[in-house]
Amino acid sequence: MNDLVIRNASLPDGRKGLDIAIQDGRISAVAAALPVKGAEEIDAHGNLVTPPFVDAHFHMDAVLSYGLPRVNQSGTLLEGIALWGELKPMLTQEALVERAMRYCDWAVGRGLLAIRSHVDICDDRLLAVEALLEVKRRVAPYLDLQLVAFPQDGILRSATAMENLKRAIAMGVDVVGGIPHFERTMADGAESIRLLCEFAAEKGLRVDMHCDESDDPLSRHIETLAYHTHRLGMQGRVAGSHLTSMHSMDNYYVSKLLPLIREAGVAAIANPLINITLQGRHDTYPKRRGMTRVPEMLAAGIEVAFGHDCVMDPWYSLGSGDMLDVAQMGLHVAQMTGQDAMRQCFQAVTAAPARILGLEGYGLEVGCNADLVILDASDSVEAIRLRATRTHVLRRGKVISQTPVPHANLNLPGRPGQVDFRTKMRN
Ligand SMILES: [Zn+2]
Repeated sequence: MNDLVIRNASLPDGRKGLDIAIQDGRISAVAAALPVKGAEEIDAHGNLVTPPFVDAHFHMDAVLSYGLPRVNQSGTLLEGIALWGELKPMLTQEALVERAMRYCDWAVGRGLLAIRSHVDICDDRLLAVEALLEVKRRVAPYLDLQLVAFPQDGILRSATAMENLKRAIAMGVDVVGGIPHFERTMADGAESIRLLCEFAAEKGLRVDMHCDESDDPLSRHIETLAYHTHRLGMQGRVAGSHLTSMHSMDNYYVSKLLPLIREAGVAAIANPLINITLQGRHDTYPKRRGMTRVPEMLAAGIEVAFGHDCVMDPWYSLGSGDMLDVAQMGLHVAQMTGQDAMRQCFQAVTAAPARILGLEGYGLEVGCNADLVILDASDSVEAIRLRATRTHVLRRGKVISQTPVPHANLNLPGRPGQVDFRTKMRN
């Protein structure tokens, strides 16, 4: 007998009416009308069952700090960075851990079970590094937290950043970060990429840099990142986050750039909620959207994920840990409204970031971890449209979160009292 069988599931690839059997925390069979019994059974009623949501780009050291020590009045990136600089000396490890743990609870309820979080290493005390390593240990039974050593003030611009980054990696941080467009010059930006990629290659680590988060069409650090990735043989282990300058780049140049990114196996991580609010701020009208060229990169064979980036922090006062919100915004900003394109937006918050993080055992094949989310939606497009309720969240075959589907209780003369306002489309 299996530990658990999920009946009548629809999968993100469009297959319907499948049963999923789970044994010892792993998927043991996926087929129609499985002739097996489970000690426990869940009827998915034809709803979507997917591997969990994955956030490829987040800042958990800043999460839920909105209003500390004051509110970002302009709502701009630069005031956000200044505000973070004011907050950093006031941080305590206890408060960092408490806010991060609360956010991880939100994440689990929304089926988000893997997060790559940058952690600022430019505070010589490395308080945030210690705090998030502690959080990583505590949440490990139910959420994969991957940490990136992020030099917010610039690896060359800040006197102690390189030393701090090496200390953070020695303490157990997983990934090497960077911020080339924030260094003093283009040349320093390029040099920072060389230094950081060589360090990562030597240590056998992945790289994820904040890269070209700018509206300056001449911010071309992604080219240098692709060059060093290729030179050092790091294909498939490097990501460029944001890449917003590409929105404004010369089209002829981009036609050369995309094949280089593809050749180097560098992945792209766009952050739609943040890019649409922070970019184009120096424009009058027309006002640029600023998000990187997502459909064009996908067409060129480049791996693309959508990240949440911020939730209630100095840069962004909104957000709730819902990757369907992120997919919804990415879909709109990139005008990815075709049927295949909408499904790609769902992939950009599930399978694509799982590959970028290098998650093992992620997926719906036999032998994969039984980490699954059942949504109150019949397919991935409907899930995005409704930001559908995640009725069940499973980790290693155990239900770790359940959310009832909401109904509105109406009080309308001459009308029935309760409606299902999910407006689901059923055949
Ligand atoms: Zn970021």
